[in-house]
Amino acid sequence: MSAINSIDLVELTHNIKAWGAALGFQQVGISDIDLHQHEAHLQAWLDNDYHGDMHFMKAHGMKRARPDELVPGTLRVISVRMNYLPPDASFAKHLKTSDIGYISRYALGRDYHKVLRKRLKQLGEKITAALSAIEYRDTEYRPFVDSAPVLEHAIAEKAGLGWTGKHSLTLNKEAGSWFFLGELFINLPLPTDSPIEEGCGSCTACMTICPTNAIVAPYKVDARRCISYLTIESGEDIPEELRPLMGNRIYGCDDCQLVCPWNRYADVTTEEDFHPRQVLHGQSLLTLFSWSEETFLANTLGSPIRRIGYEKWQRNIAVAIGNADFSEDNIALLKAQRGMVSEQVDRHIDWAMTQQTAKEHHQKSEQRKQQRLIRVIEKGLVRDA
Ligand code: SF4
Ligand code: SF4
Repeated sequence: MSAINSIDLVELTHNIKAWGAALGFQQVGISDIDLHQHEAHLQAWLDNDYHGDMHFMKAHGMKRARPDELVPGTLRVISVRMNYLPPDASFAKHLKTSDIGYISRYALGRDYHKVLRKRLKQLGEKITAALSAIEYRDTEYRPFVDSAPVLEHAIAEKAGLGWTGKHSLTLNKEAGSWFFLGELFINLPLPTDSPIEEGCGSCTACMTICPTNAIVAPYKVDARRCISYLTIESGEDIPEELRPLMGNRIYGCDDCQLVCPWNRYADVTTEEDFHPRQVLHGQSLLTLFSWSEETFLANTLGSPIRRIGYEKWQRNIAVAIGNADFSEDNIALLKAQRGMVSEQVDRHIDWAMTQQTAKEHHQKSEQRKQQRLIRVIEKGLVRDA
């Protein structure tokens, strides 16, 4: 059986990148596992409770910055990225239409966890097969995709896939940030890539645009204020002071990416799996809110949205209806859905009813003012005649 020092690791690395490209990854980089420079930042983030009720983040502690504690024997991380921007990029306009449910771009197609994990596993199998062919049988690997114990942005940065932007996502000068990341932990001492120069400079556009001021300092996101966290991760009631700021965002938020100048250079995805499902994309809040649990499960089969469950889905949509322009239909559906799911959803429905009723009063008082004005003008016209 071959020993590791008889393997041409440079050639193997070259092949890994070619196999990764053939599997549909736009970039493959390799990093070592020394992330100690990120530990202080991670500890401060946890100490500030910026992780909210994602208690698993605290439970994993520094394991996140120590890949070989998570998977013993790991020597390198093969970091990959895959574009997800769909060809029809007319998403931002839905943010301006208060009666449409805005769903984050990455979530409109098939569940990326499944797509990326399967391809990473295939990459691991390719490596194992190539080394088995030369009698080396000790290869071990483990794929991760958006997995809590992995510090994916720090790893991607080390592997040269991009730099971490002030919004805390990975950015690339040629590709922007509309891509998924995945990691293959492996026990081979492959040659590593170098980090690239950061490109945020003096820009603060993402910090300024954030609807809830969740980017509390450059590179520091308070998850408790972030709409992605509030609509996807948090199982608690959404804080009332943040609800009006969420607008019609019912699953995730893209604002910090939409405004980022580097996303002008983003490529669209070649994966049909990530193309938007019509049943989710650009749908009215009323249509989405009227789904039964069975319809929700059927329409989100194979989608990342299914992971949040029906209760959070209804909770989020109730908030968005509260933020929508007033309509009788909104009030009627809110009333009809009360008592159908849970007390938590009902609390959000009650809030939405209050918002809609206040808008109705405001609208009626504006109409009365308008009518008074018209009467005054008409009287004046009669006198002058
Ligand atoms: S996803 Fe939205 S809420 Fe979260 S940091 Fe970005 S802009 Fe702010
Ligand atoms: S918007 Fe500006 S500051 Fe924010 S990530 Fe993009 S380049 Fe960096």
